[in-house]
Amino acid sequence: MTEPSCHVRINWEHFRHNVVTLMQKGHDLMPVIKADAYGHGVTRAAKILEECGIAWAAAGTLEEAAAIRDAGFSGNIVSLLCLAPGDDDIRLAREKNLTPLIHNREGLVASKEAMRRQGAVTPLTIAVKVNTGMGRLGFALEDIEKVAAFLADAPELSPIVQVSHLAVADDPAESAYTSRQCDIFYRATDILHRVFPSMRCSLGNTAGLLEGVTHDDDLCRPGIALYGYDPLYGTEHEGHCGSLLPVMEVSAPLISVHPLHKGESVGYGRTYKADSERLVGWVAIGYADGYRRNPAPGTCMSINGTRVPVIGRVAMQMTCVDLTDLPTPPVPGDTVYVLGGPGNGVSAQELAGWWGTIPYEVTCLLGKNRTESGPPVKRVACSAL
Ligand SMILES: *Cc1c(COP(=O)(O)O)cnc(C)c1O
Repeated sequence: MTEPSCHVRINWEHFRHNVVTLMQKGHDLMPVIKADAYGHGVTRAAKILEECGIAWAAAGTLEEAAAIRDAGFSGNIVSLLCLAPGDDDIRLAREKNLTPLIHNREGLVASKEAMRRQGAVTPLTIAVKVNTGMGRLGFALEDIEKVAAFLADAPELSPIVQVSHLAVADDPAESAYTSRQCDIFYRATDILHRVFPSMRCSLGNTAGLLEGVTHDDDLCRPGIALYGYDPLYGTEHEGHCGSLLPVMEVSAPLISVHPLHKGESVGYGRTYKADSERLVGWVAIGYADGYRRNPAPGTCMSINGTRVPVIGRVAMQMTCVDLTDLPTPPVPGDTVYVLGGPGNGVSAQELAGWWGTIPYEVTCLLGKNRTESGPPVKRVACSAL
């Protein structure tokens, strides 16, 4: 019998198909494989990008960027999640030829000084982040003159790309805000290009790429579409990306199948009571596995391509489904798909709807169950109590 735990399957051919589909949009790409490739596994993702001839990639932490290099990716690797880099960070970035994203003055000063202390001869490639309206990281437009002056005087640092991030490109009703972000971005570019004429620009996320809001030479940074999901889903611009194929599939075995008589209940809180004779089963996945505890009514899983409703309360490692309407009753050990699978499987968009979130969070949560573990997606300090 199958191990009573959930199983994540990553279809790398679908990932490759999505990369190729996005390459055909006509922009150079810097695919975003941060957070362990949105839960799919950064190492394999990096290898496929390399095979596809992609020249840039975006990671989260510097450690993750290093893992992408170790996976054999030969292009530029931008680390989106950098603090003011310390000596060890700069040493790692130099050794692996990584490109930290610098988003404030402290970061500029810290990396310049670390380079000096280390007596580095080759300059460190950096990405310069501009805040154009996300209000998260980056230099304000009015500080870009000073940034350009600082960098002109810092031969240790070589800015190879200017980056900013769009806040509402996935909402066609907010296109005026997106245009304003583009306007601020390219005004910053004009200033930096006076000193660094060959610096690249990178503004568009998946939605920006699909909506065509950036200049033709923009190095677009698609994330979610690589994994098969359209950020414009549910808007009037849905489907512009062409055929994207979902990459992640998650299943778990049934561990118990039994009748539930009229008036009986299942699970904690007795939130489901049978009003007729039912056949129910418990699936080996729960909130400890990232399957959210409070899905909306109507949430389903699928068995042999047919949907079965989730009933009762999701437990830590088990969830109950109503099997009554299946043509043939399943048995313990049979596979239940919580995401994807053959036939009428559940999509990440649907699951996200039932969970009150977005497909990004669905794949990040469920992807944690992958058996081969990737590099740290966050720096976490652990201490004993
Ligand atoms: C995550 C991220 C992206 C990718 O966004 P998608 O909506 O997944 O395409 C691009 N740029 C930055 C800075 C990000 O953090």
